[in-house]
Amino acid sequence: MNKLFEKETFKKEVKENVKRLFRRTLDEATPQQIFQAVSYAAKDVIMDDWIETQRQYKKGVKTVYYMSMEFLMGRALGNNLINLQAYQEVKEALDELGIDLNVIEDQEPDAALGNGGLGRLAACFLDSLATLGYPAYGCGIRYRYGMFKQKIENGYQVEVPDNWLKDGNPFEVRREEYAKEVRFGGNIRFEKDPVTGKDKFIQENYESVLAIPYDMPIIGYGNHVVNTLRIWDAQAITDFSLDSFDRGDYHKAVEQENLAKTIVEVLYPNDNHYAGKELRLKQQYFFVSASLQAMIAKYKKENGNDLHKLYEKVVIQMNDTHPTVSVPELMRILIDEEGMNWEEAWEVTTKTCAYTNHTIMAEALEKWPIDLFSRLLPRIYQIVQEIDRRFVEQVRAQYPGNEDKVRKMAILYDGQVHMARMAIIAGYSVNGVARLHTEILKHQELKDFYEMMPEKFNNKTNGITQRRFLLHGNPLLADWVTAHIGDGWITDLAQIGRLKPLAEDPKACEEFMEIKYHNKERLAKYILEHNGIEVDPSSIFDVQVKRLHEYKRQLLNILHVMYLYNQMKQHPEIAFYPRTFIFGAKAAAGYKRAKETIKLINSVADVVNNDRSINGKIKVVFIEDYRVSNAELIFAAADVSEQISTASKEASGTGNMKFMLNGAPTLGTMDGANIEIVEEVGEENAFIFGLRSDEVIRYENEGGYNPMDIYNSDVEIRQVVDQLVDGTYANGDREMYRDLYNALLTTNDSPRADMYFILKDFRSYADAQKRVEEAYRDKKHWAQMALLNTACSGKFTSDRTIQEYVDEIWHLDPITVPATEEE
Ligand SMILES: *Cc1c(COP(=O)(O)O)cnc(C)c1O
Repeated sequence: MNKLFEKETFKKEVKENVKRLFRRTLDEATPQQIFQAVSYAAKDVIMDDWIETQRQYKKGVKTVYYMSMEFLMGRALGNNLINLQAYQEVKEALDELGIDLNVIEDQEPDAALGNGGLGRLAACFLDSLATLGYPAYGCGIRYRYGMFKQKIENGYQVEVPDNWLKDGNPFEVRREEYAKEVRFGGNIRFEKDPVTGKDKFIQENYESVLAIPYDMPIIGYGNHVVNTLRIWDAQAITDFSLDSFDRGDYHKAVEQENLAKTIVEVLYPNDNHYAGKELRLKQQYFFVSASLQAMIAKYKKENGNDLHKLYEKVVIQMNDTHPTVSVPELMRILIDEEGMNWEEAWEVTTKTCAYTNHTIMAEALEKWPIDLFSRLLPRIYQIVQEIDRRFVEQVRAQYPGNEDKVRKMAILYDGQVHMARMAIIAGYSVNGVARLHTEILKHQELKDFYEMMPEKFNNKTNGITQRRFLLHGNPLLADWVTAHIGDGWITDLAQIGRLKPLAEDPKACEEFMEIKYHNKERLAKYILEHNGIEVDPSSIFDVQVKRLHEYKRQLLNILHVMYLYNQMKQHPEIAFYPRTFIFGAKAAAGYKRAKETIKLINSVADVVNNDRSINGKIKVVFIEDYRVSNAELIFAAADVSEQISTASKEASGTGNMKFMLNGAPTLGTMDGANIEIVEEVGEENAFIFGLRSDEVIRYENEGGYNPMDIYNSDVEIRQVVDQLVDGTYANGDREMYRDLYNALLTTNDSPRADMYFILKDFRSYADAQKRVEEAYRDKKHWAQMALLNTACSGKFTSDRTIQEYVDEIWHLDPITVPATEEE
């Protein structure tokens, strides 16, 4: 046990902090102030380990720089205490002061610097890297406003700015001394150095901002390792650093002030969708340039000025294409600032950079208009042109006369910069995030690249951290698991497989479901407090929480609820097991159809929840502001995990894994990591339905299918679809859901009717739902299924994923950090 968490010392420290920070006694302090005081006390405890970890890294160990526009961290305090193995002691210490740790944790705003899966993956990876002792930096942006807060007003989503820094961020440390300048725009002047005869490229008339890093500690579980998440803030460059010519240039000063203010202002709230905004490209270059400058400076300090072997000490992992300007930026630094020639710089860059692909959806592919890109990043654009010129030459040599290959592979084509192509061409590794996804990349989306460079392609199935999503989020189940198999699972989730025999033990199964029941009561309380809806913890908690997106098919789920409600009204004699359908989802602010779906869910909820005639047998709940902190409560309480994306569209999914870990069987399609989940737990312990990915892809290649055939032949489906436009769920308004209706049946504003095969999969989904109900009625059997889901979830820890990245891509060595002496 950590000595500084000796209870009396800690209590004293909290009291001191309240006095020092707020000039108050503990009795006078608000819960928010106590949260700050407790957090600062915890930060004090980790400082020595943080310093000691960095000292170990100075010995020249290879380090991964995980470059990501998003880190969806959630709350820090509880997780930090968990990883310090001090949660219990702190809970008791606060108890003795009459303070409830849960209440204090609830004071902390989520660090919501991400949209959904991609950002949460980055956060889980940092947790695993620290726990496994691998040298790593997370590099990102300190957005002043993170993911918007969602309010539901009259059934509609309303976006409220997320001022998460309002009360300060106790764990961060501002590192002014590592500030870097980042330049935008202007023009490039070319010169020959009179002495060396080398080409020189000088950027002139540019605007610049100062990037200032804030470091956040990433605490490994019980190993004294404290890694760093480095997020960059922007600040105007003050007068004195301007060229003498520019000094006193008022307009320039104001421009730079504005650029600095806007650049890190807000996270773009699009998930799996490319918007092409200039400010977004500025954000990308801003954090990439600052991070790489800092990386090079650190490398030189530890390894000397020769950068030809940079790749022996450093690897840059690009989380999707968002940080792909890392490639030309590293080339720029090596050539323009370090004096390498092209070939040398290219060798270093292509041995340093690696790329993770997160989606095959066309609308998510980043392509920047050349005029915008070259205006904003003139020197970077020159380098991209040269990378492209050399690559196209190579393609033509390998495929003479085949200009189709150039069309499909060139970085610069059709007036646009194709970022994924640059990442693949320059990266030494290209990975997908689940087995199916990687196979689709290799054989469909990226098959030309795979043909030319098969050795680069590899799979890394995503994972999640059991420390946050079981140990912290579900303490009752965590304790139960530990009581049965010991606590080795916390850092070695494969051990959770030792629970499997307990599926044959009726008492263990009963305990497992009792814990589930307690967690459902906890969520029911949250729902009552936040939604004012009473739900019955003995009903089936059927949960779909994830970003709202057409391909994720929340519409299929709610149409099925409408169908069940019709059944119940038309056949009151049919037995029906009570269900609570729980949704949670944010829609991108500009995504109209997604927002209409939220309104529909809330409208169905209004009608169904208030219909006395069905005896509360269906409840529909839309949980406002789905985010990491309430996700932890939701996963712990779920009976059924809805993973119903159109097959081939969900690259991996990670929500599916969190549900599984918490004992909720999957109701899903054979998509993303669902396939691997079913492989681990057995098809008999999941509810699989719908088209397979090859069938979806075949229909797509044939131009779609005709949903009217289904509409015309299936009266129950027709009734549900017609209810979108007969006013049933819109107080008589026939237009409110016309767009959703059209999306299912017509090609009005999409290339195909029912692009996501909702009606095609409807019957199969309804049948699977029927199987869920039948299975749940058999309490003993359900308990076995649920328990086996937890017991078979070992593969899906991000510790396993990170170990695979290390073994096959990064080649890092773990460090050990000795416990530091106390003064
Ligand atoms: C895990 C997680 C996601 C990703 O969920 P998917 O179902 O994989 O899309 C999104 N948001 C939050 C808050 C999460 O915790």
